[in-house]
Amino acid sequence: KYYSNKDEIYNTYDKNDLGFTYSKEKTTFKVWAPAASQVLLKLYSTGSYREDNATVLSMKQMHMDPTNGVWSVTVEGDLHGIYYTYIIQNGKKQNETQDVYSKATGVNSKRSMVVDLERTNPDGWENDKHIFVDKQTQAIIWEVHVRDFSISLTSGVSRQNRGTYLAFTEKDTKVPCTDAPTCLSYLQELGITHVQLNPVYDYGSVDERTGTEYNWGYDPVNYCVPEGSYSTDPYHGEVRIKEFKEMVKALHEAGIGVVMDVVYNHMYSADDSCFEKTVPEYYFRKHGNRYLNSSGCGNVTASEKLMYRKYMVDSLKYWVEEYHIDGFRFDLMACHDIDTLNLIREELDKIDPRILMYGEPWTADNGDNGISGDDCCSKANAKKLSDRIAMFNDDMRNGIKGGSDDDTKGYVQGSSNDTYKLLAGMMGASSDTFGRWAKCPTQCITYASAHDNLTLWDKLLKSNYNHDYNTKDTSIIDQNKLCATLVLMSLGIPFMLAGEEFARTKHGDHNSYRSPDSVNAIDWSRTLRYKDLVAYYKGLIRIRKNSELLTCCTPEAVHKTYMTYNGKVIAGTMANIDNPKNDYKFMAIVVNNTNEKSAFELKSNYELPNKWYAIADHDVATGKAFRAFDSSNFEIRPQSALVLVDAESYDKINGNKDQDSIAEYIL
Ligand code: CA
Repeated sequence: KYYSNKDEIYNTYDKNDLGFTYSKEKTTFKVWAPAASQVLLKLYSTGSYREDNATVLSMKQMHMDPTNGVWSVTVEGDLHGIYYTYIIQNGKKQNETQDVYSKATGVNSKRSMVVDLERTNPDGWENDKHIFVDKQTQAIIWEVHVRDFSISLTSGVSRQNRGTYLAFTEKDTKVPCTDAPTCLSYLQELGITHVQLNPVYDYGSVDERTGTEYNWGYDPVNYCVPEGSYSTDPYHGEVRIKEFKEMVKALHEAGIGVVMDVVYNHMYSADDSCFEKTVPEYYFRKHGNRYLNSSGCGNVTASEKLMYRKYMVDSLKYWVEEYHIDGFRFDLMACHDIDTLNLIREELDKIDPRILMYGEPWTADNGDNGISGDDCCSKANAKKLSDRIAMFNDDMRNGIKGGSDDDTKGYVQGSSNDTYKLLAGMMGASSDTFGRWAKCPTQCITYASAHDNLTLWDKLLKSNYNHDYNTKDTSIIDQNKLCATLVLMSLGIPFMLAGEEFARTKHGDHNSYRSPDSVNAIDWSRTLRYKDLVAYYKGLIRIRKNSELLTCCTPEAVHKTYMTYNGKVIAGTMANIDNPKNDYKFMAIVVNNTNEKSAFELKSNYELPNKWYAIADHDVATGKAFRAFDSSNFEIRPQSALVLVDAESYDKINGNKDQDSIAEYIL
């Protein structure tokens, strides 16, 4: 055994009142500390480090049974704004710690705070609604870091809100001295359905007092508290809660859902964590005295332990119910066991089955995970997980552009080495013909860039121009457009790093987790310099949003897709013969990565139409027909893409009104 199974020793607790239960008249504190011989509650008037006149109260075990493990005390009066810690005696060790179930903390998370959550609700919060999509494959996810989003002057956000949650609430922001929209206005025009925020729970690597330090935040301290450095006042615990809710509300009003990046797999520090101080040797996987390290960050938590599993469930439900969060991205999901993730799915389903769940189906160190390879949430085990728990498809990512940080080439740079992985990915990793790990496309996140590794633009520069990050060459834009087509016109759930659509660069910095703003900040002026590229993404997003075919979910629908690769051209034909929702009967995606025009033939298990329209090519993506083709045999230009729909359905949907602008295709 890699860990001592203390679930056999300790009684667990299944009620939902751990932490504090607040009312104006009294507050009850409960902490699960089954190994403790004494637990004290310490009340403070401030949340900073200063010692002040603390009140110390002793807590009692809830029942006479000494193995119950829950300690409790009730304090009379209105405790909103009172800070607190527990002093826990475990054997000879006495530790002062914040609450595992903290909902608010003072600066840098040393002290928990009692909060009347009602008082943190912004005006109109009671009318705030989740933003969900009916099918997971209708989500189009844009990943962004709160600070990156607005810290640059080019964001046009007011000085006091730059880099904070509140930047998301500013409307009609523009690149200074231009009409180019930024931030929230820009996102509304782009058309994505969800933002995924890099960690916004409280993390440990940034001193919240400075306002200048930078980190991605993959080092959790308090899982149920918003990070303080993104608030305008990290000292008063209620401020960040209110500002976080303001952010969610503004995004929801703009029609955009909010996905949180959650990192339950490891913590900033195991020894210094509230978990270890409260119940030693329980929450982390260990081998002897050594913390296991499949997270690659010094420790890995034990999702299989009943009280950590319960904690994950409680914490996720709290974000959904209190903050109206619409989905979760699980960091290093293969550190977690399958039962826990399926349980989380079931528990979230009780709130709403449309809450998004997806994650990284890998660990950082496979040899040091502490649970069997059969039990962890890897791609190999996708079939054991709910079909609404999705996984990042790194095989397809590499097929598109080559290795994430090296100078190898993928399909868009002209390589054919991994094209079959790309084809499998275009089928949502759900096709037996090309290789399958997903049950259906709702399990597959399709992407070419994320916060980890080189930005897509830097990767294209590195692989084409041997590390020259200042090259100006439009053929890179063509390759970027091919990536956009492959991600957005495939089955699965499309995902991109913020700014992929305007050639975001970090100047070759492939791991910018603690690099300065000068590397990480989004330069919104690039939306002007690369406005053609932005328009292209925007058009493909619009096409995707209007297509039942591209967002199909079921294995049966996948079987109606026919992919071919003739050594040069990829051509996929999707069929929807019954066409229940007035969508196109046929749609085809064609991509040519060579430097010459190439012939190909569309194929299908169904009789193909004799007339097609192009609604996107390598220049424009509008969703409007602009070229007609009178067979399924044709040629495609070098380094280009085509999105085709059958003319009959198109004319039926659009009432022939586009006929005048449709020209015959001329190579
Ligand atoms: Ca923090």
